[in-house]
Amino acid sequence: MDFNFSFDSLQTLSSESTVTKVTNDAIFECVIIGGGPAAMTAAVYMMRKGVSAALVTENFGGQVIETSGIENYMGYRYIEGAQLAMKFREQVRQFSIAITENTAVIRIESGNPHSIFLSSGMKIYGKTVIIASGKSWRKLGVPGEKEFTGKGVAYCTICDAPLFKDRDVIVVGGGNSGVESAIDLARVASHVTLIQNLDALTADEILKKTISTFKNVTFLFKYTVDSIHGDSAVRSVRVRSIDDNSEKDISVSGIFVEIGLVPNSSFADSVARNVSGEITINARCETNVHGIFAAGDVTDVPFKQIIIAAGEGAKAALSAYEYIVRGN
Ligand SMILES: Cc1cc2nc3c(=O)[nH]c(=O)nc-3n(C[C@H](O)[C@H](O)[C@H](O)COP(=O)(O)OP(=O)(O)OC[C@H]3O[C@@H](n4cnc5c(N)ncnc54)[C@H](O)[C@@H]3O)c2cc1C
Repeated sequence: MDFNFSFDSLQTLSSESTVTKVTNDAIFECVIIGGGPAAMTAAVYMMRKGVSAALVTENFGGQVIETSGIENYMGYRYIEGAQLAMKFREQVRQFSIAITENTAVIRIESGNPHSIFLSSGMKIYGKTVIIASGKSWRKLGVPGEKEFTGKGVAYCTICDAPLFKDRDVIVVGGGNSGVESAIDLARVASHVTLIQNLDALTADEILKKTISTFKNVTFLFKYTVDSIHGDSAVRSVRVRSIDDNSEKDISVSGIFVEIGLVPNSSFADSVARNVSGEITINARCETNVHGIFAAGDVTDVPFKQIIIAAGEGAKAALSAYEYIVRGN
C-alpha cells in the first residue's frame, strides 16, 4: 500500500519555498548533503519514514542538469536532464522537508549529534548524515580559468557547444571525454585544437577513428595549458610544450576542459576516502564513522549512473533510518 503523507515538525519548513531557511543550531534526525539523484531519493525515503530531515545543497539536479538526453533511467524512454531533475525536485518538495539551496557544506565534525557547518555561516546538527555530494568537473587550476568560467571556459560540451558555432576552440584532454567533446565541437565550431599532455590519445579506438575523419581538428601532443587570457570573454590560451618548455598563444573564443570529474568530498575529511577522494562505504552505505552514510558518485561504488545513484540514495536512507530507530 502506498501512503503519501506530508509531515510537519518543528524543524521542517514549508515545501512551497525553495530558499527556505534552516534555523541556526537546529537539530535534525538526518541531514542530507546534495541535490542530485542520490540526495533527492534519500530525501523522499526519509520523509516517507517520518524522519525530521534537512537537505542542504548547492543546486538541485547535480550532474543531471548537465545531461541533454537520458535514455537509461527506467520509466522514461527519453527525457531531458533538466526535465528529470525537475521531476525529482517536485517529488521531494511535496514533503515538508527543510531545504537550503545555494548553500555548501564546508565541514562536518563527527559527534553525537554530528555538526554540519554551512557556507552561510550557520551550523546545524544531524543525528545521522547522508553525504550525497556527487562529483564536479576537474579544473585546470591555471590563471584565468576561474575568471573566464562561463565566458569561454566551459566544462560541459553537451550544454555549451552550440554557443561556439563557427568559432575556434580548444579542448583539453585526450581521453574519452576529451575526444567525444572534440567530435561534438568539430561539428559546430570552425576549428578545434585538442591539447593532450601525453604523446597520444588515450580514448577508445572507435573515438580515435571518428575524430581522425574531421579536417578541422588539430592535435597538440605533450602540451599543457599555462594560462587563459581575454577581456570580457576568452580571446587566447597560452600553452606550453612539455618537451622544450616553449610557449605559444592560440587565439580562441572557447576552451573546453575535459579532464575528468572529482568527488566533492573535501569537506568530509573526518570520513575514510580512497586515493581518488571517493568516500569508502560498505554494502549498507555506512562510512567508517557511526551515523554518517554516503551515496552516489561521491562514493567508491563502481559505475556512476543516475539509476545507481538513486538506488544508493534509497539504501543510505534505509540504513540511516535503521540507525535512528535502533538508537545508535
Ligand atoms: C555530461 C554527463 C552526462 C551523463 N549522462 C548520463 C546518462 O545518460 N545516464 C546516466 O544514468 N548517467 C549519466 N551521467 C552520470 C549521472 O549524471 C551521475 O551518475 C549522477 O548524477 C550522480 O548522482 P549523485 O546524486 O551521486 O551526484 P550529482 O549528480 O553529482 O549531485 C551532487 C549534488 O551535490 C551538491 N553538492 C556538491 N558539493 C556540495 C556541498 N559541499 N554542499 C552541498 N551540496 C553539495 C551538488 O550541487 C549537486 O546538487 C552523466 C554525467 C555527466 C556529467
